[in-house]
Amino acid sequence: MSERKAALVTGSTSGIGLGIATALAKAGMDVTLNGLGDPAEIERTRAALEREAGVRVRYDGADLMAGEACAAMVRDAIAAFGRLDVLVNNAGIQFVAPIEDFPVEKWNAIIALNLSSAFHTIRAAMGHMKARRYGRIINIASAHGHVASPFKAAYVAAKHGIIGLTKTVALEGATFNVRCNAIAPGYVLTPLVENQIPDTMKARGMSREQVINDVLLAAQPTKEFARVEEVAGLAVFLTSPAADQINGAALNIDGGWTAQ
Ligand code: NAD
Repeated sequence: MSERKAALVTGSTSGIGLGIATALAKAGMDVTLNGLGDPAEIERTRAALEREAGVRVRYDGADLMAGEACAAMVRDAIAAFGRLDVLVNNAGIQFVAPIEDFPVEKWNAIIALNLSSAFHTIRAAMGHMKARRYGRIINIASAHGHVASPFKAAYVAAKHGIIGLTKTVALEGATFNVRCNAIAPGYVLTPLVENQIPDTMKARGMSREQVINDVLLAAQPTKEFARVEEVAGLAVFLTSPAADQINGAALNIDGGWTAQ
């Protein structure tokens, strides 16, 4: 077995997931990347990270909409590095519409990816982690795991759900040195947020600037986006010994949004 810890980060070809995978690799872990995107670009990212961090970086292109694909990805990650110490469930999508117009297939897709994929990966990893008496599971929730916004029925439901899943897994892993926590960011300017600006402009009849200032950052008292590096830094901390007794928490990085 490798001396290095091994991590799997879902949805790590972009945005927050890529930031977390990069930070875990730079902290000395072998990393499995996952996510969609242009294969050549992903290979460039993979090779660059491997070179810069001096660890092994592999890529699994599993589409996590299906449970068996999630489980197979976890099994392959364990087989490839001989161990899985850190599992980060980050892959997520968004869709914005009033509930009466919310397409049923968008509801199903968001619940499948943002909530059920985490159930399936944890289900596949838990036995391995319990048997090794070590596991750090981090679920990327959202401020929308604590509070709601209009027009985001599926996303808010999935993010509330993942905080519940986090607490349950925390209790089941507690005496096996398996920890499970959630990180709940406010708005971070990633492609996921960029892409919802046009829909919100349409849903609310607003300009881009109005959406950023009056909708996205309206609830964020600092009036600043959270940064990918801040979320990644907390994820690395949650894998460190200083965080050994943090279990079942949903830690906010939201500029004070949910303090209101
Ligand atoms: P992003 O769009 O930049 O990245 C999403 C990642 O998920 C990409 O790697 C994408 O390829 C992957 N993905 C999409 N569909 C997939 C599928 N079917 N199978 C496997 N991977 C798939 O988004 P982001 O902003 O970095 O979001 C990452 C996570 O952070 C999400 O769970 C999101 O809900 C959460 N989050 C984001 C914000 C924010 O403001 N950006 C705030 C709170 C929470």
